[in-house]
Amino acid sequence: MAHASPTRTVEEHRDEILALVSTLPAVTLPLARCLGLTLHEDLVARLPAPPFTNSSMDGFAVRAADVAGASAERPVELPVTGDQPAGPAAASALAPGTAIRIMTGAPLPDGADAVVPVEQTDQPRGAAPLPPAVRVVEPVAAGAYVRHRGEGVPVGAPVMPAGTRLGPAALAAAGAVGYGELSVVRRPRLAVVSTGDELAAPGDALGGGTIPDSNLAMLVALATEWGADVPLAERVGDDPEVLDAVLSRAAEVADLVVTCGGISAGAFEVVRQALESPEVRFVQVAMQPGKPQGLGVLTGGPHRPVPVVALPGNPVSSFVGFRVYVRPALARLAGRDPLGETLTVQVRAAEAWRSPSGRRQYAPVRLEAPERPGEPYLARPTHRLGSASHLVGSLHLAHALAVVPAEVTQVEAGQALPAVPLPPWSPELPDQVVPAPR
Ligand code: AMP
Ligand code: MG
Repeated sequence: MAHASPTRTVEEHRDEILALVSTLPAVTLPLARCLGLTLHEDLVARLPAPPFTNSSMDGFAVRAADVAGASAERPVELPVTGDQPAGPAAASALAPGTAIRIMTGAPLPDGADAVVPVEQTDQPRGAAPLPPAVRVVEPVAAGAYVRHRGEGVPVGAPVMPAGTRLGPAALAAAGAVGYGELSVVRRPRLAVVSTGDELAAPGDALGGGTIPDSNLAMLVALATEWGADVPLAERVGDDPEVLDAVLSRAAEVADLVVTCGGISAGAFEVVRQALESPEVRFVQVAMQPGKPQGLGVLTGGPHRPVPVVALPGNPVSSFVGFRVYVRPALARLAGRDPLGETLTVQVRAAEAWRSPSGRRQYAPVRLEAPERPGEPYLARPTHRLGSASHLVGSLHLAHALAVVPAEVTQVEAGQALPAVPLPPWSPELPDQVVPAPR
């Protein structure tokens, strides 16, 4: 009987899901559309950064030797022969014994070797007509306030390797060395389908026996927060034919399909009825919440095979399943290390709580700052009913999921535990980040 499938560990289940997905193809995108994506090429500087030698201050370009003796008592007066604003207009070369007014980022005129900041002259800061002469009241060393061409990155230097996850600063670096578009791994597309005859759209009036479909919005948000696109998000009832039709459309537009609900031991388990086959299996994982899980590939249509992860319907189970299984799969699709999604932080239980025997518990917890700085944060279950899988109304209070080993049935106050952080909604977390058990 299908329900007798043996229990597997979280890691076994995750690895089997990871085996269903591989890195998506590369595409070329403008910089502004690359945030969070994985770079697919090694970047070498096409331009030196900065691209030309320029001033780091508003002031006067000079030869340092000409102002060597300057002081407040005995200023050195130099005739000002021109203006060098930032931008393409180039002033003529600096003649010995003269100054050129220069702005931050403007090219250093030929013949100049230093900049005297306006504050070290008799001139006012801000907008003013070009003065006929400037009195310099402090000397500057040769090279002072000069940023040399290529001193940040010389042309041809490696800037970042393929595989880099592109954050805002990486996009700036790529732009600065001459790239307007980048070859990146395509952003993963995730389709989400929630199931259940009892589900109503959130906000709609409830008939007897119906509940708001809180999972659909949650799963879409989890995918979006992670950085995936969600081309399809639909709710279906418990009719396998309707589900099958929706899954056909999902397979056309998605790299990965996630369903929730309809996979446990009831008499009307729509996902199971529609999909159970050699290609899609339903299993029991030694975890709580989230024991029933499904995985496989949708086959048979023109756009298939497409991998599918079937999560249980209870909201906390769906949430934990997304964090533990779907995020690593998205990471692999996106060309990142899936195990980067398994990092945990060390916390300490603030109070005692129970955990089921033989199943690893993922308990939603609040984190409280430790009494002494540097010690682990203190974890307290977000609800007196602990990690019960229906407690969706307090899940938003969790900063992390405390991970209780399968053999532990009673967490003691003070016990050290790993915890999966839930950024960006977490407060500051301890710096001590350790990999989860694997
Ligand atoms: P199932 O996994 O379909 O057996 O559902 C398990 C429990 O989760 C039941 O109490 C369902 O009513 C509830 N549930 C299933 N799907 C959702 C959903 N999309 N939103 C909120 N609760 C759900
Ligand atoms: Mg159901």
